[in-house]
Amino acid sequence: STAILWLRRDLRLDDNPALQAALVDCARLVPVYVYDPDSEAPWAPGAASRWWLHGSLSSLDQALQAFGSRLLIARGDSLAELRRIVAATGATRIHWNRLYDPTSRERDGRIKQALRADGLRVDSHNASLLFEPWEIATGTGEPYRVFTAFWRRCAARLSDVRPLPAPAVLPPPPESLDSLPLERLGLLPTIPWDAGLRETWTPGETAALEHARTFLRDRVRGYATVRDLPAQAGTSELSPHLHFGEIGPRRMIAMVKEQWDDPTADPVESFVREIGWREFAHHLIYHYPHTTDEPLDRRFAALPWREDDAERMLRAWQRGETGIPLVDAGMRQLWHTGWMHNRVRMVVASFLTKNLRLPWQAGARWFWDTLVDADLAANSLGWQWSAGCGADAAPYFRIFNPVLQGERFDKAGTYVRRWCPELARLPDKYIHQPWTAPAALLGHAGIRIGRDYPAPIVDLKASREAALAAYEVVKTAA
Ligand code: FAD
Repeated sequence: STAILWLRRDLRLDDNPALQAALVDCARLVPVYVYDPDSEAPWAPGAASRWWLHGSLSSLDQALQAFGSRLLIARGDSLAELRRIVAATGATRIHWNRLYDPTSRERDGRIKQALRADGLRVDSHNASLLFEPWEIATGTGEPYRVFTAFWRRCAARLSDVRPLPAPAVLPPPPESLDSLPLERLGLLPTIPWDAGLRETWTPGETAALEHARTFLRDRVRGYATVRDLPAQAGTSELSPHLHFGEIGPRRMIAMVKEQWDDPTADPVESFVREIGWREFAHHLIYHYPHTTDEPLDRRFAALPWREDDAERMLRAWQRGETGIPLVDAGMRQLWHTGWMHNRVRMVVASFLTKNLRLPWQAGARWFWDTLVDADLAANSLGWQWSAGCGADAAPYFRIFNPVLQGERFDKAGTYVRRWCPELARLPDKYIHQPWTAPAALLGHAGIRIGRDYPAPIVDLKASREAALAAYEVVKTAA
């Protein structure tokens, strides 16, 4: 029979259950990608994600061609396009891997029903998670809201995790197959702002597997000690590959197990736990779909955000011109590379939501457009955690001090100097708070605050107190 493989965020051949299911008794396989941003609104892929997607689709097409197959690319309403392809190919079956965010679930459910009504066999599978969100539940059958307990339950089952191999052969695609050229999707920017992305990343499954291999061979041992130091390449930088499904979490766990008996013991425990956070984020978005736009803890919807000067403040934050070096370095790393170190993500998010008292949703939106790993589940979790209104929240009164964070995690100022080169000549003592440096020293370093580097847009101490007062309102409202 002829089977359609509808690819979405599972852009790989390895450990792809929908692909394996499609291959059973399959004479012709039609691998399809439908670009349908309208159906993902309001979370259609942002600019950096579109850049990545282009590279990933190109890589997948090449991999398929090496098997004598190829990727059929279409654009438009997913259901209409799939129906058109069914009609053109005489396919009798369609397989895909599940997505867990509310918009995709609603769309996929609708499409499943419609295609079944057309007489097609429709099957969905799990490629992106270790465990389905509904398989992991508390003793009373409830979803988890606390990571530690959630992960304890998952970790006990890691021995069951087994990825599927990549196929050895693929059936050919139907002969007359009309594909849109990839360029026609318009995913690449027309104004070339993407040089930093091109320098930093290689999208696609081959690069993802290679990247995972070298990380596990050379760097995972040091992960627990250096993962919080933004100046070092201490984390895996696998997030965009995982988001687009160029590598799956089951393969990651299996690769870890090839080298270490117990993935939940040192030296890999802390890295594997982060894969657990990724699972937890999907668990939450599945069970609490409102958290894409509203706080999990609904009391925090009442939080009084800043009203005056909000736009100017937001813009300064976006551009990395807040006058707080660690924040600015992070925001510039994001703009330049499409990625930001996790420690710094927490710092810039705390600064936006607490010191500037701007809504976390505004920060999440900016991340959505600029991150190559923008992921609705992880982004919503990260922002709410930082704002103190999500699951497992850092208590609302924990406000990161970006100066102390810098002094602790970027002691020599290497990260700040890399992204804020105008501060490079400041001695370490002042690199995280240049406004406190003596005038003579600033003069010597060739820096005038307000001319070469901004003065802080808020006073850290006063804004911290204002945030605590605002959060107090929520507490008494509860
Ligand atoms: P590693 O430390 O090597 O971790 C390995 C993998 O585990 C990551 O690739 C990622 O898939 C997963 N992971 C790690 N930490 C988390 C976490 N806290 N939540 C969920 N998954 C995690 N991550 C995204 O993938 N997309 C986002 O849009 C995103 N937005 C964030 C927003 C904020 C405000 C914060 C504080 C965090 C956000 N994160 C997001 C989580 C985290 O910062 C990134 O996953 C991580 O920095 C990616 O780098 P890495 O691959 O080197 O991570």
